[in-house]
Amino acid sequence: MLIKCNLFKYRCGKCGTNFEVPVYLAGYGNFLLRSYASDEMAWLNAIASHAFKEGSKLIKAHPKVINLKSNAQSNIVQDIIGSIYDKNSQGNDFGINIDPKCSHCGEQKTASYEEVQPSKLVEIDVQPITSNHWDNLLESEKKSLVDELLTKY
Ligand SMILES: [Zn+2]
Repeated sequence: MLIKCNLFKYRCGKCGTNFEVPVYLAGYGNFLLRSYASDEMAWLNAIASHAFKEGSKLIKAHPKVINLKSNAQSNIVQDIIGSIYDKNSQGNDFGINIDPKCSHCGEQKTASYEEVQPSKLVEIDVQPITSNHWDNLLESEKKSLVDELLTKY
């Protein structure tokens, strides 16, 4: 599907190279996901995604999360929810908050970013993310996966 994005200028936190990448700004509940160790992107419509509903419910009900304020809960959901979906072609996770890959050194560590001025729209072709793996898990396996994703908190 074709998605209209705004062009942003990122500065790499490792080598300082500036590079331009599309960033999706508009639209509540829609996310452009990036992946680790590649330039692959995927599209997530969170409102239409059954896996998102199930995953975020399990994350928010987890003992480590349940007593946090709702915006802190949402931040954690955004941080880890990509990992419940199917991985990219190289077996790496997609994620909402993954930094784009530096065009020079390949690092995914952003020093700063800003919209290119004057603003510039670009259209990118991106596939909706799939959740086949998650959909086939038992309820207990879904809980274990969420446990695992929350160990860093
Ligand atoms: Zn770099």
